[in-house]
Amino acid sequence: MARPLVAHIDLDALCHNYRLACELAPNSRSAAVLKADAYGHGAVPCARALQALAPAFAVAAIEEAVKLREAGIETPIVLLEGIFSADELALVDELKLGMAIHSQWQLEAALARRPRCPIPVWLKVDSGMHRLGFAPQDAEAIWKRLLSAPSHVTDLHLMSHFATADHTDNDYFRRQHDELLALAARLEAPLCLANSPTVLAHPEAHGEWNRPGVMLYGSDPLEMSCDASRRLRPVMSLRSEIIAVRELESGEPVGYGGRYLTPGRSRIGVVACGYGDGYDRHAVDGTPVLVDGQRTSIAGKVSMDMLTVDLTHLPEADIGSEVVLWGISRFGGELSVDEVAQYCSTISYTLLTGVLPRVPRRYN
Ligand code: PLP
Repeated sequence: MARPLVAHIDLDALCHNYRLACELAPNSRSAAVLKADAYGHGAVPCARALQALAPAFAVAAIEEAVKLREAGIETPIVLLEGIFSADELALVDELKLGMAIHSQWQLEAALARRPRCPIPVWLKVDSGMHRLGFAPQDAEAIWKRLLSAPSHVTDLHLMSHFATADHTDNDYFRRQHDELLALAARLEAPLCLANSPTVLAHPEAHGEWNRPGVMLYGSDPLEMSCDASRRLRPVMSLRSEIIAVRELESGEPVGYGGRYLTPGRSRIGVVACGYGDGYDRHAVDGTPVLVDGQRTSIAGKVSMDMLTVDLTHLPEADIGSEVVLWGISRFGGELSVDEVAQYCSTISYTLLTGVLPRVPRRYN
């Protein structure tokens, strides 16, 4: 019998979430973001599931694009951070990739190459994230240079990234958006703007292209959910089993450091999942799990290969009972990865991308 920890990936839910993005942004094209191995879900199976729906995929680095092309994926792929060195341009041409250009050296390299054919370019402007991109006042001249090089560049868009699209208070978002609209109007440029929270909550800022990531995997990035985000379906269900049960008297410590003290006579279940699988060690006592579809919670620090949960109120639970760390239980019931992330003082992105390779992924 194999260790009973599996990440079940529901590709129908992935397609449902992608279709929701398209429905919310009907006048914009949605490039499905598959970086970081599709946020831990497996880029190749996710790309295969989405290829009939999505006009483009987006990844962070050329290695991720190579993996998709080697798997036979022919959908256009855009490198969200462009190239990391000029030698990558030969492969960009060969694999027919598109790329963001955010730096002067990338611009010079892209224009200096001898092109096989023009590549789609998203010119990245820093409208307020202050991470990557050209200052808006410099973008105009660069835009014109790119436009005047049709043998090197095609399908040119202005791209930018919002810093606070998930926040309820949106003054900063509006400032970024206004700046971009003004620039786009001056250049008559189409825009590539929206990440998941923008797709979900800011219909005015979708642009000609949008780039949803985490919402495709069923996580709601918004500080305050909205009707649309409540329609998302979880894609990953991280499921394990109880592998041992301890009956303990009141006041007994459980796990490293004895952080959890049994508040009365207790049944503690040991689950085959730990930080060596990517489960967050910051999970506090009280972090929810589902045992045979019923909610209970973590009791004691997460170990490398195990964690412990309170079964005191679940007398039926025993060795072999299903434990859902997040996702959907076979017994009914759902535990959102966003809720688990809150108990770990983090965001769903880190939990999903953090599931380590030793956890087998199983696809529906
Ligand atoms: N676009 C860019 C440039 C990104 O860096 C990211 C994610 O980090 C995305 C789109 C997708 O964001 P989200 O997962 O919030 O939809």
